[in-house]
Amino acid sequence: MAAGYETKDPSLLAHNLYKKYGKPLSSIEAYPKSLRWFLEDNFSIEVLQPILKLQSSDGTIKGLFESEGGKAFEAAWIPAAKRMTICVSSQAGCRFGCKFCSTGQHGFRGNLSTFEILSQVFGLRKPFNHIVFMGMGEPLDSYQSVKKAVEILNAWWGVSLANRYITISTVGIFPELSKVIEELKCNLAISLHSPFHEERKSIMPVESIYPIKEVIKMLKTKKFTGKRRLSFEYLLLGGFNDSPLHAHETGRLLSGLRCHINLIAYNSIAGANFRRPCLRTIENFREILNEYGLRVTIRISSGYDISAACGMMVGSK
Ligand code: SF4
Repeated sequence: MAAGYETKDPSLLAHNLYKKYGKPLSSIEAYPKSLRWFLEDNFSIEVLQPILKLQSSDGTIKGLFESEGGKAFEAAWIPAAKRMTICVSSQAGCRFGCKFCSTGQHGFRGNLSTFEILSQVFGLRKPFNHIVFMGMGEPLDSYQSVKKAVEILNAWWGVSLANRYITISTVGIFPELSKVIEELKCNLAISLHSPFHEERKSIMPVESIYPIKEVIKMLKTKKFTGKRRLSFEYLLLGGFNDSPLHAHETGRLLSGLRCHINLIAYNSIAGANFRRPCLRTIENFREILNEYGLRVTIRISSGYDISAACGMMVGSK
């Protein structure tokens, strides 16, 4: 702190800065008036601002950001009743190349720093009560930045958002998957998309290095207690991975694991030869999974008309 002013508790200042982001520094009530005005006159809090914002007909807002080094990345604000979610990117692009994902088809331009991740949270200037790392990139491939961002989001001196409102989505890579389970207490969402090795490999090259069966085997040795949630994302590609056989095999694979499954209908992207399944097929899939005692939600993608839905972000105008 500048000459003449000292604080015995810098975390209290940090807490106020995060909680009051967007408000004048002079409004930090925990400090004497003179200090507040000193802060107001001498400091400013800067985060990256979106260079472009698009609004969907369903209310979703997508922001395009650009780092000082020229990396472009996107975040989305998704309102749904009382739940207001910000979906953030952890990388500009992605190097995992999943065949159904626009991000993966546009190459990799680098990891995002913690500052760039948190800029998405604050730069959209929208209220939120959930954060999901489901935008561009594989969060565990940028683990150190993501870990720090989650710690700041969760810390009492930071945003003080409970861990159960923060979710990291991953294709499942080692050893980071074990680390995130041990080191962070937030929710985990694993991208499953097919229970069959060769088929999953054909749409998710990561399967050849980290097979989903190994990922699940490891998860079965861990405890997901309390409000911490383990979920699996299953993207249904019409006529490809949506048969009763797939549903039964997925049920067998996940039985015995305390988890939730989100079924997501494919959102069409340029250059990919998949189609969206019909609602009846999706419901059949869910009913079969229910037979295995699994809890299943059919997730509605938001922001399709502005390319903000699952797998559609590319980071360009
Ligand atoms: S689905 Fe995730 S891991 Fe796969 S290419 Fe897209 S962003 Fe990367």
